[in-house]
Amino acid sequence: MDRFKLAKKYQEPAENIMMNIGTLAKSKEGLLDLSIGDPDLITDERIINQAFEDAKAGHTRYTASDGSAAFIQAVIDHYKNRYHLDFSADQVRATVGAMHGMYLTFLAILDPGDEVIIHEPYFSPYKDQIELAGGVPVIVPTYEKDGFQLEAAMLERAITSRTKAIVVNSPNNPTGAVFSQETFQKIAGIAIEHEVFILSDEIYEELVFDDTFTPMATFAPENTITFSGFSKSFAMTGWRIGYMIAPTYVSETAKLINENITYSAPAISQQAGIYALNHANELIPEVVNVFKERLNYVKQRVDTIDFLHLGEVKGSMYAFINIADTQLDSVAFSKKLLEETQVLVVPGKAFGVTTGNHHVRLAATQKISVLKEAFDRIEQMTF
Ligand code: PLP
Repeated sequence: MDRFKLAKKYQEPAENIMMNIGTLAKSKEGLLDLSIGDPDLITDERIINQAFEDAKAGHTRYTASDGSAAFIQAVIDHYKNRYHLDFSADQVRATVGAMHGMYLTFLAILDPGDEVIIHEPYFSPYKDQIELAGGVPVIVPTYEKDGFQLEAAMLERAITSRTKAIVVNSPNNPTGAVFSQETFQKIAGIAIEHEVFILSDEIYEELVFDDTFTPMATFAPENTITFSGFSKSFAMTGWRIGYMIAPTYVSETAKLINENITYSAPAISQQAGIYALNHANELIPEVVNVFKERLNYVKQRVDTIDFLHLGEVKGSMYAFINIADTQLDSVAFSKKLLEETQVLVVPGKAFGVTTGNHHVRLAATQKISVLKEAFDRIEQMTF
């Protein structure tokens, strides 16, 4: 792959809006930033206090490269208690966020030219990570009319002799869709039949509003590599801690690769993660309720604005809003929005082009008073 292609790609308007978000957010007074999935929440102080106590007690050194024994045990216990799934210690490894685990996995499993199926609209790093690891992304669209559910028959048609893996992301960024249990079962069946991996990005597993989440590993235990972590469920984006759970040979390879990259995940963040998982039942509902309330508010406001449309938001922290009635594409709309209202969202184009170009993603990362201000400004717009 031409690695400079990435740099060139980020000169494109859609990507540019994404990549310049940080700079914009800092430089523009009055900006209402509803772009990246980095909420305004501060990590619960019980987690912070415990982590700093642990640091003072000596948890300031490298841990074992696959994570401390206590961290790995906490992940194993969590999956046993919450989902009745049994994993062994050599399947679990601490990663510097879910994204890091995903990239290690691509490096571990892909030979040059191997294909990886991703459903679109997709979390944009997947495509770049696959290409950087020498693989070829194969895109399968999902459609708003189907509630952005992945259609199993379409997925199966995309499989070739070069397919190594299918990436699944539910609850989904950017659409907020939650795949049904039946869809998970079908994907699992296809992966087992065609002997491919499922890379299940379950970082939003707790942000499911009216249903319960069942991990993909329940349906295809031998084929599934699970990625999750603390960023979203525990409001811990900046701690950079997550984990992957994989068949032993994948986990071992990922560990060896990572010994040359970050060596281990931050010790203090692993300690924070242990506390978080051991107190998940008390800590998670507060975070979930915040996003549920905010997204309900977003839905109510969108429903009163005639040029915006939004289906039911079943999970995640995002609203993928249809802007087709404005006659603008997602980049032009986002620019106009920013210029006229100082509200920053991400154009759908940044998540793929086939289905995404008549949507923008609004992240419910700010309080309802900020969302109110944003929609008060948006409803004044004319097209
Ligand atoms: N996966 C998806 C689908 C995401 O939306 C995000 C963050 O926005 C991540 C992974 C990143 O997770 P982490 O912070 O654990 O690396």
